[in-house]
Amino acid sequence: MSQRDNVIKHSSENPFESMKKRFDIAAKTIGLDESDYHVLIAPQKTVIVNIPVTMDDGKVKVFEGFRVVHNANLGPSKGGIRYSMDVHLDEVRALAAWMTWKCAVVGIPYGGGKGGIKCDPRSMSKGELERLTRSYTDMMVDVFGPDKDIPAPDMGTGPQEMAWLMDEYSKLVGKSSPAVVTGKPIVLGGSLGRVEATGRGVMVSTRAALAKMGINPVGTTCAVQGFGNVGSISAKLLAMQGLKILAISDVSGAYYNPEGINIEAAIAFRDNNNGTLEGFKDGKKISNAELLELDVTVLVPAAMEDQITEENANRIKAKLIVEGANGPTSASADDILNKKGVLVVPDILANAGGVTVSYFEWVQNRLGYYWTEERVYRRADRVMKTAFEGVYAAAQKYNIPMRIAAYCVAIQRVADVEKLRGKFGL
Ligand code: GLU
Repeated sequence: MSQRDNVIKHSSENPFESMKKRFDIAAKTIGLDESDYHVLIAPQKTVIVNIPVTMDDGKVKVFEGFRVVHNANLGPSKGGIRYSMDVHLDEVRALAAWMTWKCAVVGIPYGGGKGGIKCDPRSMSKGELERLTRSYTDMMVDVFGPDKDIPAPDMGTGPQEMAWLMDEYSKLVGKSSPAVVTGKPIVLGGSLGRVEATGRGVMVSTRAALAKMGINPVGTTCAVQGFGNVGSISAKLLAMQGLKILAISDVSGAYYNPEGINIEAAIAFRDNNNGTLEGFKDGKKISNAELLELDVTVLVPAAMEDQITEENANRIKAKLIVEGANGPTSASADDILNKKGVLVVPDILANAGGVTVSYFEWVQNRLGYYWTEERVYRRADRVMKTAFEGVYAAAQKYNIPMRIAAYCVAIQRVADVEKLRGKFGL
């Protein structure tokens, strides 16, 4: 079963088109000239590989893998690798572009890239996943590099895949290269705080937005879609801030409790239950569609793309949407939400905590000196708050939604660098 089957499946806009629609509006807003427009919209490099893997039953299966470098003006391209049956080229292209804008919006010295393999990691053994990851790394060895293109975890991947990637790459280049990938296990040069980083950034963004709205977080109701790394940690940290999490969800469905769900207990349940919430009893089972339309103040979509579209945007009751996932709102829903007065903290800002701590991990790897968790959190929170305030101020100043303001800030930065260094092709 595909992950998308249990979230909302829409006829769906092409995700790259959805990204481009926002880019077009922002480009117009900042008066981007036509040449820059063409340079900045096109992905600089696209690599497609067919990866043969010997499966446990002895048969060879071939998996399609991608790596897209959207833009490397600000520095080496950065972005995760996704393992999912829904992976396709247009999705990877959109996700790569979002990484470019995300890194630019928080002001870290990276361009944007993304990778993906069309596979179902839940149905594969550890050995199969290791062989797949190592072969993908072999085929991408000329793309990756600590000063070229730096992968990280994304949906369906985590520290173990990053450890295999780092080990394989190090063998191929003949030296230990921890900085080629981030999101590694701590003992292999991972950073303290990296696992929590995206959820923590979602929490910091939510607090900042609630402060602007004059809403006290304590007792404020919230629904979180998705219970992977981003959703579960966002829910946990938001609950610690006093928000009442009325609903959570994962591939098994959504769970609603008007009294509030005990998130620590839900995480423990998931961890002892093969990684899913299937059978979770602390809440009535509802659908993912119903979760999105609950009467809550804050909605955190942290599952995947295209969950809020023109089909359901009108029925959304939340006053604040903080996008933990990449692309959870399709471009067609933007106007509807804006007209309803919903404040949307866009993905490229709200979920940038992860790549920010990835940057800290890379810095620590290169220094060979490792920071305390407290230092990581303090610096990451500062980056997130500064970026939030910058985008919020731009939105106020030009009377535009925060999403368009975030794109404007990001595109302007990448365009300025392009002017300084000249047209930059890889
Ligand atoms: N996959 C994460 C994202 O979409 C993290 C990327 C990174 O750390 O490079 O932001």
